[in-house]
Amino acid sequence: MGDGKKDGQGTRLIHPPCGECEHTGAVTPPIYMVSTFRQDAPGKCKYSDYSRTCNPTRSALEAYIADLEGGCAGFAFASGMAAICSALMIFKTGDHIVATEDLYGGAYRAFVDVFSRFGMTHTYADTTDASAVEAAIRPETKALYIESPTNPLLRIADIAALAELAHSRGLLLIIDNTFASPLLQTPHALGADIVVHSATKYLGGHSDLIMGLATARDPEIAKRIGFVQNAVGAIPSPMDCWLMMRGMRTLKPRMLAAQENAGKVARWLAANPAVERVCYPGLETHPGYETHRKQASGPGAMVSFFTKEAATARRVMDRVRVWTLAVSLGSVESLISYPAVMTHMEYSQAELDRLGINDRLIRLSCGIEDAEDLIADLEQAIG
Ligand code: PLP
Repeated sequence: MGDGKKDGQGTRLIHPPCGECEHTGAVTPPIYMVSTFRQDAPGKCKYSDYSRTCNPTRSALEAYIADLEGGCAGFAFASGMAAICSALMIFKTGDHIVATEDLYGGAYRAFVDVFSRFGMTHTYADTTDASAVEAAIRPETKALYIESPTNPLLRIADIAALAELAHSRGLLLIIDNTFASPLLQTPHALGADIVVHSATKYLGGHSDLIMGLATARDPEIAKRIGFVQNAVGAIPSPMDCWLMMRGMRTLKPRMLAAQENAGKVARWLAANPAVERVCYPGLETHPGYETHRKQASGPGAMVSFFTKEAATARRVMDRVRVWTLAVSLGSVESLISYPAVMTHMEYSQAELDRLGINDRLIRLSCGIEDAEDLIADLEQAIG
């Protein structure tokens, strides 16, 4: 940033661009619970005419995420799905998108059951393989939509390689950066054009908010997303924007503590005879280990694993006490989920089979409890 104060993500998180109240010096931004603004003359506004278009508390959050992601602008939405769908609404009937094949189930549903009704088409591809992505591109393709790491298999795409491919074919690269968070991975720096987040997860960090954020690399794309944000209006309240900023300030210690736990849990699982395979990009055995290391500063705190027997997986779900059986991720408490039944039931059985999302797959979102307690709980549950 060149101002001597904001060179690292940890410092950026604590000193956001609009972090203080400029009128009072209050060290947190004010909450503007307001829908409309008095105009000096018809059409002459001091700041905004209406809070759907622009609200000062939301603008502070939007400047915060833009600064963290290194985008030219940020946008806040009422949920991660609202952010994803609003970003996809910059396209039109006839446009085609190539998307990661093991996407979050809600994003999959939006492609299959919503955008298809408006004449947009998509192809799912293995985005760990740039040649498979290239083969899926058609004359009407307008964007690549990826996750890295993916949900739930923690597969890794080479973001810079896909950005280069996208740009060489005149496409945009959109990435869901929820699993890594901007503490660990900043995809705009690797060429991604749009970054989306379920801010419900690591950014909020406390399982108490639903929200989405998006950032754009260049002003022309930012303008298109801003247009949809205002036209469709899937925005969060000023109070929620403020709570989100409060959560974001502690992203670094939360994420680092959770990541440390994840490393210990992943290594313990990898050595357990009841476990067939562990998916964690921090393990050298992970096929995307080198690629992830190149593009992210840490492997994150999500761990998925396959038990050898389905009965073991079901027993784990029944018996865990410290881990909470729940969907979602990225919070201070550790969550355990069963993707085939809890988060990816939008997929057909044939697709689940092809992707290997089966009744032996468990997804863990490591929180910040004591690692020994998390491991002891898994140990008694695996039995
Ligand atoms: N992206 C990913 C990777 C997710 O895991 C989720 C939700 O679990 C979403 C997007 C959707 O976010 P939200 O639940 O905030 O709408």
